Amino acid sequence: MNVMSLLDSQTEKRREKKISEFNNVHFDTLVIGGGINGAVASLALSSHNVNVGLLEKNDFASGVSQESSNLVWGGFKYLESYEVKLVAELCHSRNRLARAYPSRLAEKRFLASLDASSPFSPWFASLGANVYWSIGQFATKRPRYRSPRTINRLEPSVNVDSLVGGIEYSDHLLLDNDSRFVIQMIVDAIERGAAASNYMTVTEAERVSKRWHLKVRDEILQKEFETSSDVLINTAGPEVNEICDMTDTKTASQLVFSKGVHLVVPKITDSGRILAFFDETQRLFYVIPMGECSVIGTTDERVKEHKVSVNETDIEFLLSEANRKLSLSRPLSREDIIAERVGVRPLVIPKGGVDKDRDWTELSRKHVVETNRKDRMVSVLGGKLSDCLNVGEEVIDALEHLGYKTKKPATRWYGEPSSAERSIFFHSAEKIIGETDSTKKIWRRHGSRAFEVLNKIELKPHTAKNLSESIDYCPAEISTMKDSELIFYTEDFMRRRTLLAQTVPQNDLTSDPGFQNLIECLSQ
Ligand SMILES: Cc1cc2nc3c(=O)[nH]c(=O)nc-3n(C[C@H](O)[C@H](O)[C@H](O)COP(=O)(O)OP(=O)(O)OC[C@H]3O[C@@H](n4cnc5c(N)ncnc54)[C@H](O)[C@@H]3O)c2cc1C
Repeated sequence: MNVMSLLDSQTEKRREKKISEFNNVHFDTLVIGGGINGAVASLALSSHNVNVGLLEKNDFASGVSQESSNLVWGGFKYLESYEVKLVAELCHSRNRLARAYPSRLAEKRFLASLDASSPFSPWFASLGANVYWSIGQFATKRPRYRSPRTINRLEPSVNVDSLVGGIEYSDHLLLDNDSRFVIQMIVDAIERGAAASNYMTVTEAERVSKRWHLKVRDEILQKEFETSSDVLINTAGPEVNEICDMTDTKTASQLVFSKGVHLVVPKITDSGRILAFFDETQRLFYVIPMGECSVIGTTDERVKEHKVSVNETDIEFLLSEANRKLSLSRPLSREDIIAERVGVRPLVIPKGGVDKDRDWTELSRKHVVETNRKDRMVSVLGGKLSDCLNVGEEVIDALEHLGYKTKKPATRWYGEPSSAERSIFFHSAEKIIGETDSTKKIWRRHGSRAFEVLNKIELKPHTAKNLSESIDYCPAEISTMKDSELIFYTEDFMRRRTLLAQTVPQNDLTSDPGFQNLIECLSQ
């Protein structure tokens, strides 16, 4: 089975429907790029009564937004470069996200182990962790100093030979991965009236008679069509410049790229903690949980191009750092690599800044939202998943700045459904499914669409059973996802809607007893 193949005979009809949502339709705003920045912009705009269309040339979240460390954090490490304002903003955004997405984000303890070569002593790191905790408004559990003996007891997989101590502090993790978080946001935007499609490339854009006229190609049907808008929003991530070239516009800030690689390996610790170390270049190196696996990384290498791949040096570096810092029954080797993640961090050089190779690692990781009044264009440069709510709100401000009157929604424009809806769901699910673990998972994965999953199970109770131990999705979930999440290739489902492609080795997946059923569910 080729996991990239198209799924079903209904594809043409589904694509034609998508094309009709854009073809010769005029929008208030069109958003180019369906990563986290495009997703949050579309959700914010649709929630503020703006008529918005989102176009993504590949699958949603198939750019940098599927390659992150999955952390929603306040940027503890930026205290190193005294970026207190950035840390305060990130902590604020992190806290808001954690409150708004209580089931999709989990507070995790980070255990940072320090040895004699680490840039900070345990007492100084402890002080930093407390400052970080206070900047974060004490919203997480209190940080703690940990002695090498305690570290050994808490995390036997950590090599304590040369440790001088450590600190434990908290930040948050996206439990179902970055890409699913982004796609949920896009589906929420669609529910609030946005038009959005994956596999649609903007090939030309021209401003004529006070309107942006876009030529778009549907990558599945290979059909071309036109659409237009008053305002254009450039959220093309590392390809922001390409969109500028296409639209004959410029941004005052510039982007440079830092390549980051993670490797997914079998689970290293059962504790759920995130292990942190300083690598040989004095950068933080993490062991992060992902489903039933662990992710090790990352690298941080200045590159000129945004198209990057994992090379031998990356693999050697990550495996040797992990083996140096961990005490495993058997060292990690290439055979243990289940999946790779690689992408570029788009870093912003603000207007007037100089791109010097020697200090690029100190570049702020803060995003910039630029408004071009003359061309009625808004560009988002840089940014993080952690900071996405600020991006959404700054895009609304930018539109207001362009003279557009948006309408503030009566309720919060982002977040999971309310606690009242949650109670109704859990109450109904108890009667229909009974089992609480599955109920929690369905709620976390599907949010407001969880009711639809439940309806399907009520009508056909056999659709509540997971396909297998590894493929822990039930047919009712898969059919709900296919309907609402614009799945066109099996890879969309395996890599970006679920953790399967990253946590189950491909051979195990295709020989799994549930795999054929999965393909059938996706093809119905
Ligand atoms: C290794 C690594 C680790 C990271 N870890 C974290 C972390 O733990 N926490 C955190 O908050 N952030 C993290 N980040 C940063 C974060 O992942 C990125 O900043 C963020 O995902 C960028 O999102 P984006 O929407 O700007 O770009 P993208 O996700 O790349 O989206 C841009 C989209 O635009 C589309 N596009 C381009 N041209 C066109 C066109 N002509 N027509 C239609 N579509 C087009 C692309 O296909 C792409 O999907 C990490 C980044 C890296 C690389």
